[in-house]
Amino acid sequence: MRFASLGSGSRGNGTLVEYGSTRILIDCGFFLREAETRLRRFGVEPETLSGILVTHEHHDHIGGVSRLSRKFKIPVWMTNGTHAGWDDPHVPVLTRFNPNEPFTVGEIEVQPFSVPHDAREPSHFVFIAGGSRLGMVSDAGSVTPFMRECLSGCDALMLEFNYDVEMLRNGPYTAKLQKRVGGEFGHLSNMQAAELLTQIDRSKLQHLVLTHLSEKNNTPGLALSAAAQAIDDAPSWLVCAHQARGLEWREIL
Ligand SMILES: [Zn+2]
Ligand SMILES: [Zn+2]
Repeated sequence: MRFASLGSGSRGNGTLVEYGSTRILIDCGFFLREAETRLRRFGVEPETLSGILVTHEHHDHIGGVSRLSRKFKIPVWMTNGTHAGWDDPHVPVLTRFNPNEPFTVGEIEVQPFSVPHDAREPSHFVFIAGGSRLGMVSDAGSVTPFMRECLSGCDALMLEFNYDVEMLRNGPYTAKLQKRVGGEFGHLSNMQAAELLTQIDRSKLQHLVLTHLSEKNNTPGLALSAAAQAIDDAPSWLVCAHQARGLEWREIL
């Protein structure tokens, strides 16, 4: 299994996961032309996508899904709640999944799990293929025991490190927005994500990608050092996904 990020952050998200002939795009927060450009930059022709899985209805995750799906006839998966909160729900093939039940897309098994976030029915995923597990979570205000269970024992993790507590407190956000981001249904701070890392089985971990970093309330340096401290190491496989550049393909061996 291999994966790549098309871009990560509040101005648009998209992640590719591939195994055998199955190629999944998770979220598409980029407008059509931008999404096509980013996909081709990673060697992916949009019509070769097996499906688009959507985590939740916030614009940075769903904004480009309809047009990409319609233009290239790509099937879409999302929860009932995400579908209810979607302002452009007309796509050629739509499957609504239950966030408590695993399903498959081609050769990849998908284990969804719910997260506390201010959307209707947000869900993130663990992907299982070829004996490997790739866990992915962003846009979660807090960590539940079930999230810890799902993300334990993964070979690769893409984990939200959204904000530094001090930077959020002293940054440009209004008090209301600070409360939202820092709240139980907002985003994971460096500290919360680092704590999560200390609570899960990391014995198989060979890729740790920090995602959804706030451009105003965090820096890659702060996020990386919080993660390195948590895992007591700073290996070359600990990296950040960039908003503009994303992250090149990473292979899980
Ligand atoms: Zn987001
Ligand atoms: Zn969100």
